[in-house]
Amino acid sequence: MTEFSPLQSEINKLIQSSGPMPVWRYMELCLTHPQYGYYVSRDPLGREGDFTTAPEVSQMFGELLGLWAASVWKAIGSPPLFRLIELGPGRGTMMADALRALRVLPPLYQSLCVHLVEINPVLRDKQKSTLSGVRNIAWHDRIDDIPDGPAVILANEFFDVLPIHQMVKRETGWHERTVEFDGNDRLVFGTAPEPTPHFEVLLPPLVRAAPVGAIFEWRPDAEIMKVASRVRDQGGAALIIDYGHLRSDAGDTFQAIARHSFSDPLKNPGQTDVTAHVDFQALARAAEDMGARVHGPVAQGEFLKRLGIETRALTLMGKTTPEVSEDIAGALKRLIAEGRGGMGSMFKVLAISEPDLTLLAGLSEEKQDAGAAPP
Ligand code: SAH
Repeated sequence: MTEFSPLQSEINKLIQSSGPMPVWRYMELCLTHPQYGYYVSRDPLGREGDFTTAPEVSQMFGELLGLWAASVWKAIGSPPLFRLIELGPGRGTMMADALRALRVLPPLYQSLCVHLVEINPVLRDKQKSTLSGVRNIAWHDRIDDIPDGPAVILANEFFDVLPIHQMVKRETGWHERTVEFDGNDRLVFGTAPEPTPHFEVLLPPLVRAAPVGAIFEWRPDAEIMKVASRVRDQGGAALIIDYGHLRSDAGDTFQAIARHSFSDPLKNPGQTDVTAHVDFQALARAAEDMGARVHGPVAQGEFLKRLGIETRALTLMGKTTPEVSEDIAGALKRLIAEGRGGMGSMFKVLAISEPDLTLLAGLSEEKQDAGAAPP
């Protein structure tokens, strides 16, 4: 008899009692099942873990995001209380680097309150030790729990872990894609027998024209709506960085990553990171519908270059040994290079702001530095 992961045993039971479950529900259980979910029980980051993110590649990433936050603070009139919020802060590395860069601006640094939205107790502990010297810091389960006030909200590789729905086009319409038990110890994909009523009218024209058999993914807008309504009403801006596509389109991007390689998302539920690409057009549309202003998206490489990452790398390289200098050059390349292996074009950056902010550093055409140079 096959040994199931503890979560697969739970999922098998659920399917046996209630029938096939939507991919959305499966993904939600894999990531956040209160006992066996991937993100409630472990630190997935780094060389020893399952994947490496931009802040873990280089300190330059978080530093430049810190300076970007400073440019927003200035643009909204340097308010005396300013909240720096991060969604899904991982090990706290990006926030630590951002705060170090912001120390060169004492009036801003003194006005800061840091808020981290994190559900993972293992990562919360890591964040507490990484950020142990920081005053005015608080942790929250949800963005709704953060007190009012102007803010910059940062989210790197956060939206890709929010569960997606997958829809399959058939002659009869768009059907929800499901996960079922094949009776032979295996989880397999299926489709709901009935189409979802009126689903087609919600679709962008490009997707409506997709052939039979096509898959379309969509994410509920709840989280982006909270972000957009917060910056609209309270002031400030949000910066969302993730891998994904600029235009809504058909395609199956549901994937699992374990030990730095792709694996089957239906194997070992709860033991691998299951994610799907971010649809930036859908995020932008949802934010605009809430009355917030959208900036970008632009490719990560372009964004970081506009904020001056190449100059920053040269400064760091000038201060160190040839070996470390080579590491910095390698990290720079990884963050901005296009194509496979690089994050520069695969990752996109989208900003959402209060309606009156017209220009944001790095998101408009002109080349500009984010502001002060970090130490
Ligand atoms: N931003 C970090 C980590 C990315 S991994 C980095 O770039 O290194 C995704 C992060 O989101 C982790 O910290 C994870 O624990 C957190 N997370 C996942 N689902 C979440 C949810 N529903 N609410 C809040 N945080 C969540």
